[in-house]
Amino acid sequence: MRLNLRTSIRNRRFWGWGAAAVLYLGVTAAAAEFTWNRAIDALADVGEHRLDLYAASLKSELNRFETMPAIVARQDSVQALLAAAPHASAPLQHEVDTYLEAVNRDAGSLATYVIDRHGAVIAASNWNQPRTFIGTNVSYRPYFKDALATGTGRFFGIGTNTGMPGLYFASAVRGAAGPSTGAVAVKVSVDALEQAWRMPGEAAMVVDGNGVIVISTAPGWKFMSVRPITEQRQRAIQASQQYAGRAVEPLSYRRVDDWKRDAWLGNFPDWRTPGRTARYLVVSRPLPQAGDSLMVLQDIAGAYRQEHLAVAFVTGAFLIAALYGLYAGQRRRTIAEKLKAQDALRRANDELEWTVAHRTAALTAANERMQREITERELTEQRLRDSQQEVVHAGKLAVLGQMAAGLTHEINQPLVAIRTLCDNARTFFERNQPAQAFANLDRIARLVESMAVLTSELKAFARKPDVERVAVSLNEVVAHARFMYEARIRDEAVQLDVNIPSGTMVYAESSQLQQVIVNLLGNALDAIRDAETRVIRIEAVQPDPQLGRVLFTIADSGGGIAPEVLAHLFEPFVTTKPRGHGLGLGLAITSRIVEGFGAKIYGANREDGGAQFSIEFAAATSQRAEHGR
Ligand code: ADP
Repeated sequence: MRLNLRTSIRNRRFWGWGAAAVLYLGVTAAAAEFTWNRAIDALADVGEHRLDLYAASLKSELNRFETMPAIVARQDSVQALLAAAPHASAPLQHEVDTYLEAVNRDAGSLATYVIDRHGAVIAASNWNQPRTFIGTNVSYRPYFKDALATGTGRFFGIGTNTGMPGLYFASAVRGAAGPSTGAVAVKVSVDALEQAWRMPGEAAMVVDGNGVIVISTAPGWKFMSVRPITEQRQRAIQASQQYAGRAVEPLSYRRVDDWKRDAWLGNFPDWRTPGRTARYLVVSRPLPQAGDSLMVLQDIAGAYRQEHLAVAFVTGAFLIAALYGLYAGQRRRTIAEKLKAQDALRRANDELEWTVAHRTAALTAANERMQREITERELTEQRLRDSQQEVVHAGKLAVLGQMAAGLTHEINQPLVAIRTLCDNARTFFERNQPAQAFANLDRIARLVESMAVLTSELKAFARKPDVERVAVSLNEVVAHARFMYEARIRDEAVQLDVNIPSGTMVYAESSQLQQVIVNLLGNALDAIRDAETRVIRIEAVQPDPQLGRVLFTIADSGGGIAPEVLAHLFEPFVTTKPRGHGLGLGLAITSRIVEGFGAKIYGANREDGGAQFSIEFAAATSQRAEHGR
């Protein structure tokens, strides 16, 4: 999904740049074409203006000289000279020559001369110059031929005599009524026109009917042809010596493109830099008066420059736009990323705050819960401690109850015996048998003594528990317990084996330890009451004196601990005994007391039958035990 999105963004960007490139190319092409068209149109307009100007100046030049030969032809002296030719008098000849010289000077033409009907020049304005026209024959010249045939003649040509190019005007000289007796011709220089038309980056020229350039501001192009010339025409040109007998060379150019009517683009030799070709806009116009045409060539380098400038401008504008686009895109991306980062930060912050608040609330709740639990636990503990004390006490009472039955028996018997012995002693005294009476008194004393022992044991048991742990002799405690159950052991024919090395001392509290042993021994006696063999074995070993441990065991030959009881042996109110015989508190109290000694108690069934209870005591030295006592 993310990949698709990225690809689509990349595609969009690609197409965006593609469209911009196409737009750039389109706009550039349009701008280039528009600028080019405008520049060329402007050039064409300028060319048209030039054509107007040059046509007007050419026309005025032609008009100025066109009528001049006709005026000269009307001169009487000229006509007289022609009539007298070739035998004219020297004064007439001189008169005509000086007249021609004056007219020529006044008009500003190159030469003015009179031609007889055979084409021979018989008078000329340059009569007194070394290269005078007088004596030359111009019968082959078209202007002379045209003048004789039609009355007037005109052409561009190069003087055969002088070698100078010029414009020739001729007019026929007619006699009073007869045919033409000759002609008058005027040769005009075109240098002034060429000078006036010369413009930088431009070429102006006049092309005659042969397609030959006769006036040109481009040096070297004069008398070159702009049209192909046929062999026949070439020969005719040679014959008329129009261009002083030189062959007409074609001007090598190529028409490249038509612009509009009378305007086209062409590659021409560059007249400013020989050997190079340049492109020009050519505008031309026919000159009806002369049957020729006028052409203006304009350099189009300026149009190229304008076109390049337009392309550069458009490129610059696009570059600026592209740079701005890149900048804006980058800026947009940066802002978007910044916003995204801010958003992510805010979200993370919110999340963190939420988590912290949540955790704090959870912690506070947990804390409160814990506090409550602690309080409850403390209360429970307190209650437990209280009830434990009660239970211990209750357990003691229960044992006392059991003991009371035994004691009744134990005390009743000596009491009965004492009663009997007293009665007997009285009788012995009455019979005056003091020895027997004294013997009875001794027995009574022993019985009382044994009863005193019994009560002292009871006193010891009922004594308030001494919380201080001291070294207690195991043998002594076991002997006390044994004494407590003496009657049962005897009556129920129980074999009680005690095997405790003398001097075995354990850390305990004497009366509590006694309660423990009494409990365990009582349970063992209960267990073997109905058994076939009634054996109870009490042992203590010190497996490793270095370890300071004493392992005490009491094993019986009873039926063993019931399986359902085994797992809950030391829990209170667990009993298998009939109602009124057991509370199920004995082992619970025992284990509590043992734990109080820092010892451990275990209960298990032996493999060969019967139960075995073990207590692992911390051993105490006899010295300390003595001291403790
Ligand atoms: P009680 O003697 O009042 O039943 P105890 O806590 O002393 O309470 O004993 C719990 C139970 O453990 C007894 O009811 C009995 O089932 C079992 N038990 C204790 N000692 C022995 C033993 N030596 N052999 C078999 N079972 C025993």
